[in-house]
Amino acid sequence: MTGIVVLGSTNMDLVVYAARTPKLGETVTGREFRTVPGGKGANQAVAAARAGGEVAMIGAVGADGYGERLRHTLEASGVDTDLLRTAEGPSGTAHIVVDDEGGNAKVVIPGANGTVTELGPGDEALIETAGTLLLQLELPLSAVQSGADAARRHAVRTVLTPSPAQPLPPELLAAVDLLVPNEHEAATLTGVADPRSAAESLLRQVPEVVITLGAAGSLYVARDAEPVRVPVPRVTPVDRTGAGDTFVGALAVALGEGRPMPDALRWATAAAALCVTRPGASTSMPYRPEIEDA
Ligand code: ATP
Repeated sequence: MTGIVVLGSTNMDLVVYAARTPKLGETVTGREFRTVPGGKGANQAVAAARAGGEVAMIGAVGADGYGERLRHTLEASGVDTDLLRTAEGPSGTAHIVVDDEGGNAKVVIPGANGTVTELGPGDEALIETAGTLLLQLELPLSAVQSGADAARRHAVRTVLTPSPAQPLPPELLAAVDLLVPNEHEAATLTGVADPRSAAESLLRQVPEVVITLGAAGSLYVARDAEPVRVPVPRVTPVDRTGAGDTFVGALAVALGEGRPMPDALRWATAAAALCVTRPGASTSMPYRPEIEDA
């Protein structure tokens, strides 16, 4: 029995720190270069495992050094990678320039992630044993849909983070139990800017929705429950990267333990707040004892 299965992306983030992003045709001398394991799927898997979940990851890394490091990063946090394939060709990479204002520009090359177009041998059997399936949109949509359909067949709770933001086919939303967009993604899905109205509109397609609102916390709405607004604890933010993935990973763990939604949301909020006080994405995700203390 695996509590949480993540069907999603692994990327090596190649991060350049420079005073500013170069204009077209320009060369800028930067300050520092770092390779940081990432990808929304891998980040959610690491967050959930550190929060105390039993987690397995489905997806693909490339047949290169980045792939080995991505796999090792997952395993070091206790994520089962038996069904994480090694595809021919390069791993997924995200090429990021971070400027002195903390703004960033990014090019993502899917690499191995692009080869995951459907479930592979053993994937559905693993999903069947899970309590929760976590999905995002950094794999081909056909794989995301197959995962959601498999989860539906076996009555496994499906949680979708609709990132990167894009309009989605109704059949995908119809297979989702809990949708967790940020404000921008909610607006893209609905065409409605106000989060409360966007959330209400999404309830026509999905039974439960949590919209994350950055430093303003989160908003939960459901077809058959009262809305819940969760504020964040006051912290000094250092780096927001990975906050959304930490929130989702921790939320999945709490729900899997049978905690009621308001309680699970407060727990996820505490985990995400810890993440924003530290630099990096997967590196800044908290372990269970820290979340309990917070
Ligand atoms: P990212 O893409 O950076 O991982 P996101 O855009 O998916 O994040 P956000 O809505 O920015 O998601 O943040 C997710 C959650 O993280 C929020 O709902 C909140 O609980 C927490 N959070 C974000 N910013 C702060 C902050 N400044 N202080 C405390 N908690 C925060």
